[in-house]
Amino acid sequence: MFVYCIIMNRRDIIIAVDGHSSTGKSTFAKKVAARYGLIYVDTGALYRGVTLAALRAGFGDNLLEIDVEKLKSELLRTDIRFLPSATGGGSELYLNGENIEREIRTLEVAGRVSIFASIPAVREFVDSILKEYGKKRGVVMDGRDIGTVVFPDADLKIFMTADPQVRAMRRYKELVARGEEAHYEDVLSNVIERDYMDENRETAPLRRAEDALFLDNSDMTQEDEMVWIEKIISQRWG
Ligand code: C5P
Repeated sequence: MFVYCIIMNRRDIIIAVDGHSSTGKSTFAKKVAARYGLIYVDTGALYRGVTLAALRAGFGDNLLEIDVEKLKSELLRTDIRFLPSATGGGSELYLNGENIEREIRTLEVAGRVSIFASIPAVREFVDSILKEYGKKRGVVMDGRDIGTVVFPDADLKIFMTADPQVRAMRRYKELVARGEEAHYEDVLSNVIERDYMDENRETAPLRRAEDALFLDNSDMTQEDEMVWIEKIISQRWG
C-alpha cells in the first residue's frame, strides 16, 4: 500500500466525498479539486437534474405511480451534462442545452430528488455518466455512494456529516442569500427527510465505507477542513 501511494501521481487520484445532505460536501470537494488541480464532479447535481427533467416531463413524485419504463425512455432522450461556467471557474449543469443550475437548487427539486434517486434506473443512468469521469482519473466526486458503489477503489474516501440543525441553518442561509423564499423549519424537515430516505433506500443507500475517513464539521470552518485534508494528502502522497 505504501509503495502504491508514493508512486501514484497526486493528479491521478480519485477522491470520493460522501455524506449527509447539506454538510458542505460540494464546497469542500470544489476547494480540494482547485487546490490539487483535480476535476470536481457534483453527483448530487446530476440527480437533481434528472429529477427536474422527470418533473418537467410530467412524472409525479409518488414512487409507486412512476412508470419506470417510461422514465427510462425519457432519460435516454435526455442530454444532461456539465459545461464550463460562463462566469468563469467551475462548471454548471445543462439539460438539453438549458442552464439549470438555479432550478436544481430550489426546494421543489430538493423535496423530490431523493424519491427519484431511489429508482435503480435513475442510479444506473447517473452512474454511467460518473464512470466516464472516473476513466479520466484526477477527480473529486461528492455524493452518497461514491466510495461504496461508484468507485469502491477510490484512492481516498471521506465521509462527511454535521448536526442536522447546523446543516439546515447553512442551507437556509444559502437559499435566503439567493433570494429564495425559505423557512428554516421546512429546510430542517427536508434535511431530516433526505437523510432518512438516503440511508434507507434499497439501492445504494448512504453508508460510510469501512475505509472512509470521518469528517464531522459541525464545529469546523472551511479553513479547518482544508488544514485537515492537506495534512492527509501530504502524508499519503507527499
Ligand atoms: O448532494 P445533493 O444534496 O445535491 O444531492 C441531492 C440528492 O441526490 C441527495 O439527497 C440524494 O438523494 C441524491 N444523491 C444520491 N447519490 C449521490 C448523490 C446524490 O442518491 N451520489
